[in-house]
Amino acid sequence: MSHVMNTYARLPVAFSHGDGSWVTDSEGKIYLDALAGIAVSTLGHNHPELVAAIAAQAGRLLHSSNIYRIPQQEQLADKLAALAGMDEVFFCNSGCEANEAAIKLARFYGHQQSIDSPAIIVMEKAFHGRTMATLSATGNRKTQAGFEPLVSGFVRVPYNDLPAIAAVAEHNKNVVAVMVEIIQGEGGVHIADIEFQRGLRALCDEKGWLLICDEVQCGMGRTGTWFGFQHAGIHPDVVTLAKGLAGGVPIGACLTARKAAGLFKPGNHGSTFGGNQLATTAALTTIEVVERDQLIASADRVGRLIREGLAKALAGVSGVVDIRGQGLMIGIELDRPCGEIVTRALDSGLLINVTADKVVRLLPALNFSVEEGQELVARLAVLIRDFLGA
Ligand SMILES: *Cc1c(COP(=O)(O)O)cnc(C)c1O
Repeated sequence: MSHVMNTYARLPVAFSHGDGSWVTDSEGKIYLDALAGIAVSTLGHNHPELVAAIAAQAGRLLHSSNIYRIPQQEQLADKLAALAGMDEVFFCNSGCEANEAAIKLARFYGHQQSIDSPAIIVMEKAFHGRTMATLSATGNRKTQAGFEPLVSGFVRVPYNDLPAIAAVAEHNKNVVAVMVEIIQGEGGVHIADIEFQRGLRALCDEKGWLLICDEVQCGMGRTGTWFGFQHAGIHPDVVTLAKGLAGGVPIGACLTARKAAGLFKPGNHGSTFGGNQLATTAALTTIEVVERDQLIASADRVGRLIREGLAKALAGVSGVVDIRGQGLMIGIELDRPCGEIVTRALDSGLLINVTADKVVRLLPALNFSVEEGQELVARLAVLIRDFLGA
């Protein structure tokens, strides 16, 4: 019996090493990785510059505590603020922590306006994490069941439904913020309409609410822009990041701007590990390589190629409901639960994922090549056709 707590339905495979988007398991079998550790391994595996930067930093200093200044953290904050058009950054170690920071900040903002019981509008099918506050914000009963009482102060509305949010504004005077994924990842790769995003920004301005964008999965170049909200040209007040930010080293970040900036003072929030030398060096190097190798343009191009390739290869296949996504965040929705495709893909040497029961999800590294894209399309089309019996 394993002493590891039974919190995951794990596939029966262990990987020993990787190179780019190819990983090798303990038996020597090689796989094409179209998942990148769920949007984490931005530069693929064993990227020479990331490895060297991490090793060099480990040889100098891993961690010193936020009791002291951390120059790499300051540099990373400057860089993220410039890329996202934001003012300040709080560093933590994961996506749920970044969202916890955002939720605390929104409540703090409310209390400063004498709203004693601040509420945050959240979306159906949202995923924001597994801590008590973030699972309460999550729009999936399975995530919440058995953990009641949930954290209060969340009001749920359907995704892409501005009138529903305006209706909440009519009767609920406690609302202080709206929290939204620009592309819902776990919820099934659903994209926020451009008009919805712009309307939401305008409504938040009108009401004095904070617009919080959870970009933990869709941020850091994945969708063909640095951040998902940049497709609509909107400016959030709070942005949360994690997953791909440091190319595989645990990190999270909560970015603030305008009315959300300058709220927290010493003592209001903190993290022991958050933004340490190792994690922030890894993030700086990841960003440097993404910029230098123009991986955002590449993610856009290769993502398009994959979507178009799949659309062509699966044309007329009746069980395929939709092929959607932006950049290298791609979902293929089928008309039936399809978790079994993951095991079949694994057997055939391909790493993919299924989310929301019926959506095959692809989240490859940003340096996934055109050839790898073509190979993915060819292999996946066969798997999906076989599965559907088409
Ligand atoms: C993965 C994810 C989270 C949670 O991140 P953890 O690092 O697992 O805590 C939060 N929000 C979104 C959109 C995510 O995809």
